[in-house]
Amino acid sequence: MAEIFDPKPVEVPGFEFDERILKLAQEAEAECAEAFAETDRTARINGERVLRAFINNKVSAACLSGTTGYGYDDLGRDTLDKVYAEVFGAEDALVRHSFVSGTHALTVALFGILRTGDKMVSLTGKPYDTLEEVIGLRGKGNGSLADFGVIYDQVDFLPDGKPNVAEIFNKVKDAKVAYIQRSRGYSLRSTLTVDDIAEIVKTVKNANPNAIVMVDNCYGEFVETRDPVHVGADLIIGSLIKNPGAGIAETGGYIAGKKELVELCSYRMTCVGMGKEVGCTLNQNKLMYQGLFFAPEVVSNAVKTAIFTSKLMSKLGFECLPRSDEKRGDIITTVLMKNSENLIAFCQGIQKGSPIDSYVTPEPWAMPGYDSEVIMAAGAFNMGASIELSADAPLREPFAAYVQGGLTFPSGRLGILTAVQEMYDKHCLKLF
Ligand SMILES: *Cc1c(COP(=O)(O)O)cnc(C)c1O
Repeated sequence: MAEIFDPKPVEVPGFEFDERILKLAQEAEAECAEAFAETDRTARINGERVLRAFINNKVSAACLSGTTGYGYDDLGRDTLDKVYAEVFGAEDALVRHSFVSGTHALTVALFGILRTGDKMVSLTGKPYDTLEEVIGLRGKGNGSLADFGVIYDQVDFLPDGKPNVAEIFNKVKDAKVAYIQRSRGYSLRSTLTVDDIAEIVKTVKNANPNAIVMVDNCYGEFVETRDPVHVGADLIIGSLIKNPGAGIAETGGYIAGKKELVELCSYRMTCVGMGKEVGCTLNQNKLMYQGLFFAPEVVSNAVKTAIFTSKLMSKLGFECLPRSDEKRGDIITTVLMKNSENLIAFCQGIQKGSPIDSYVTPEPWAMPGYDSEVIMAAGAFNMGASIELSADAPLREPFAAYVQGGLTFPSGRLGILTAVQEMYDKHCLKLF
């Protein structure tokens, strides 16, 4: 790499970075070269699959314009479902801007499939925070799954962080839904790789061939060359303001998998009997197509930003999960910041390096649903879009910052450097 990387740190005009930070960044980047090459390879394979799906499904100029009202015969909507299905190796998909969030899409899937008396088992410990209310883990009477008589059970990870295969085998025997969360979410557990998911699917199907394997795929799409349906999952669910929307889709979510399951989900989303045949797309079709088209490339830039973050922050003495050389299943890097001053400086620095609202200073606040204050840095084109560079952190032990996104690697890299500079200026780190 010596021929490519100039030993003298490259100046960044208009930004006042300490020379030593630039030097470290350059070293970090050089050490990531192999991982970056692998990321490029993944982007190419996924990009080719996306383009092939566009061509095979005859995406036309007419698909890009939307409908109003009931949205009957919306060619763009119906074709986009087919394109998503092909890309993710599924029989069918339900891709809608009218999913208000990933949690909404997951909720539609759970309520679409589960009936009174059915059992859902989470195989990857406690699900993502926002689902606790949906499942009914925070009290009764709100219309949660528990209120409708759906039984919930859970298998925690083993102490070494691996899925508990023996307990999974036992608990899914009488389950309707076997639920897997791919990404770490806001916890210190490991993210599952697609190979990990393949192993779990095998265990589930051996124990109970009728169990429906549902995967919360948030933050995972296009990080690897396969997604969970490719290895036997029955249904995947995700958010369009994360990976598959590429920062272009303005809102929405998707569900993809077995045809009859997607249909049940569509009945819950609209009405029984109408399902996928209604729902106007307004002006969102073009953005959702364009988002999917760009997604493999944008995700690879976010993954590079994540690898770089892990490499640079560990050089500065902060433990990072995963390490820069570990195989990734999502776009998140967790940086253990040691104390709240470090955490706040880091998040404020990220904001300073964002394209939107760079002059705003994020402060910790008491966000609903959290038991401690939370700080969030997000200077994004789409509000709350976390495929765009963002960092959020609850202010509590172990002071973990969850960093994700970066639409382009140069901008993501610069955001991280701004955060490091901010930490240095606030006396949160030493440079040698
Ligand atoms: C983001 C996310 C969700 C859904 O969150 P929304 O904010 O509702 O889109 C669910 N699970 C995981 C693991 C996530 O990262």
